[in-house]
Amino acid sequence: MESYSYRREIPVSGEYDVIVAGGGPAGLAAAVSAAREGASTLLVERHGVLGGNLTVGHVCPLLGSVSQGTMFDEISELLTHDHPGRPVMVTRNGRELPVDPEEAKIKLTRLVASSGAGVMLCTVVSDVVMEGNRVTGLVLTGPGGMFAVRGRVIVDATGDGQVAYLAGAEYYFGRESDGRVQPVTIEFVVSNVDESRAITAWGGSDPVRLPSGREYRELCREKQAAGELPENVSIVRLHSTCRPGERAVNTTQLNGINTLDPLELGRAEAGLREQVLQCLEFLRKYVPGYERCELKSSAYVLGVRETRRIKGDYTITDADVEQGKRHPDVVVHNAWFLIDIHNPSGAGQAEGYSQPAKPYDIPYGVMLPEGIEGLLTAGRCISGTHRAHASYRVMAICIAMGEAAGAAAALSARCNTTPRALGAAAVQELLVSRGIDLFS
Ligand SMILES: Cc1cc2nc3c(=O)[nH]c(=O)nc-3n(C[C@H](O)[C@H](O)[C@H](O)COP(=O)(O)OP(=O)(O)OC[C@H]3O[C@@H](n4cnc5c(N)ncnc54)[C@H](O)[C@@H]3O)c2cc1C
Repeated sequence: MESYSYRREIPVSGEYDVIVAGGGPAGLAAAVSAAREGASTLLVERHGVLGGNLTVGHVCPLLGSVSQGTMFDEISELLTHDHPGRPVMVTRNGRELPVDPEEAKIKLTRLVASSGAGVMLCTVVSDVVMEGNRVTGLVLTGPGGMFAVRGRVIVDATGDGQVAYLAGAEYYFGRESDGRVQPVTIEFVVSNVDESRAITAWGGSDPVRLPSGREYRELCREKQAAGELPENVSIVRLHSTCRPGERAVNTTQLNGINTLDPLELGRAEAGLREQVLQCLEFLRKYVPGYERCELKSSAYVLGVRETRRIKGDYTITDADVEQGKRHPDVVVHNAWFLIDIHNPSGAGQAEGYSQPAKPYDIPYGVMLPEGIEGLLTAGRCISGTHRAHASYRVMAICIAMGEAAGAAAALSARCNTTPRALGAAAVQELLVSRGIDLFS
């Protein structure tokens, strides 16, 4: 491939104790966590709003659980307390906490602002500044052009592990057997649903029945076979939202998309927008209570479940998640969600149904990219196998990881050391002092 090499003088606009790249569930929790420790903190986000998949991705409900006392308790309370009457479904997925992306935009923005962290929006991390193997700053591109910021510690919460990748970190990508990743999806919300007749449906193993007595999943399969649903959509998931008469629809699906290739993202976007219309038509035509449903809103960006998983000092394994492994350097305790692999090469789940997991620890080592200093990862880009990632990628766990990474970053900056040299014990002490259960 042809390549260019170029030099450019760019201004350095500031210096911070902690810079967090990516303002999704993990990144915003990291920024709040660091700022609350008194670290001068900058949060950099490429979109014009915070929240990542939670807002721009329209992902609903909040899934997963962690031990008591983490920022997940605070954020889930913040996002649900204006809707006290809404039923919280408990399914094989555990508790399904409905959240509203519109409300989340304002509430999460206030949360970050109140912590004192600075926020740069519409600003993309384009490169890293390195001294040896240590990341000491980021090259950013905002509406006004390119500039740099210096940081004593950087947290990579970009989902794609973009900072770590630019710093030269090794990473895993896709299934160990064939490198395929989970499919991409555009989520959407429908309104005008008749609650007196309308079902909810949380997944392919949900035996929910229509008022006629017929299993809903059977109807979905029949219509998929008849070409009335997209090729790989064998279940149209219908989650309750914060409001009666609405459902969050997590169902469109395209496989085989290289989610690091922007041209493929463009192709996927075009295909999935068509799928939204097809699924809407299916609901109106065949599902009781949805005859008059309308498209209320949809994700602004393609929902990307899986890209780089940055190789760390430790890698969470399949067995760790299946057996509930404890670690002496735990920073998130009792993380739990099913091993939920949306099939990378076809319809439904990769393993029939989501597979069981036992509450496990997220150890500090998974946030330390191997061979790189001054950098922590948090959220879905930490170090884990494809199957482990299919469990820890849910938002409850990502928020708790973000909090831990932010605490570690602030402490490292305060002690004038690197996150690796700081070690887990200091991070644990701080998290426990916040009331977080790490060792029960
Ligand atoms: C379709 C879909 C359905 C899902 N369903 C559920 C569900 O029902 N419940 C649940 O709990 N979880 C669900 N998940 C998983 C969950 O939403 C994500 O795994 C989680 O949001 C990951 O959080 P994160 O902060 O690591 O990454 P993200 O939410 O991806 O946030 C990363 C942020 O970094 C920003 N960023 C990336 N690169 C750069 C850059 N170079 N410069 C600046 N900013 C950058 C992005 O814009 C984004 O805001 C779903 C995910 C998808 C895609």
